[in-house]
Amino acid sequence: MAGEVALPPPLPVETRYYEPKILVIDIETAPILAYVWDLFDQNIPLDMIVEDWFILSFAAKWLGSPKEEVFYADIRETPKDDSGLCSQIWQLLDEADIVVGQNSKRFDEKKINARLLAHNFPPPADFRSADTLEMAKARFKFASNKLAYASDRFCVKYKKLDHGKYPGNKLFIECLKGNLDAWEECRIYNIFDVLATEEYYLRLRPYCNKINFNVFNRAMVCSCGSDKFRQHERPRFTNSGIFARYICESCGAPWVDKNNLLTKEDRFQLRELGL
Ligand SMILES: [Zn+2]
Repeated sequence: MAGEVALPPPLPVETRYYEPKILVIDIETAPILAYVWDLFDQNIPLDMIVEDWFILSFAAKWLGSPKEEVFYADIRETPKDDSGLCSQIWQLLDEADIVVGQNSKRFDEKKINARLLAHNFPPPADFRSADTLEMAKARFKFASNKLAYASDRFCVKYKKLDHGKYPGNKLFIECLKGNLDAWEECRIYNIFDVLATEEYYLRLRPYCNKINFNVFNRAMVCSCGSDKFRQHERPRFTNSGIFARYICESCGAPWVDKNNLLTKEDRFQLRELGL
């Protein structure tokens, strides 16, 4: 029939159980190069731009993979050309179910999209986002939400690094000049950012239940992968009923059962009583 869209056949049962593929990613970008008339409080007209920004490097890893398997690439061999990086990033994003990053929803994902569009890539497959900055703001009130602060306090193995020999913007300026020593520092800095973000995400995750990991397995499995729960001695009381509460034995994440312990008769009786 004209206009009828043929839907693909449903997935066979054996492929309906998934290990979630969670990608942790961080990119470094080059600054915009522009002529400026002054330093303070400037509005730079478009015709003053000499060179637009691009991606300098990226580091990424699958959550839980060994640190030796971190993906890293930069443009030291192809100055100003991030098309190769974009291709690698696209492949990883396209494979991911969930993408984790510090401020990744507002920065990394959008910056990556801008460069993918510039290089004529189609969008990668739709993935879900777990932004550690958003998670921190939603559930905690820390003195600072910066990764440097968070990794310093909450990460044991990996802390966000300072730019050692090339402090602040100097690192990126030196990389753009082709200084291989600076590129090496950029590589280590970028990789540590991803390792620290992964560790930070794992610390935050038991408090954040926005992504329902049960759907990957169609069973009661915690976001940490454990299926061992103990029941809390008290259920959760809501306006509509009573629900059993569980605690993950591995990471401590709380979980509320969806089944109402009030029977239909109980509920009917409550309504009859005008309650
Ligand atoms: Zn857990």
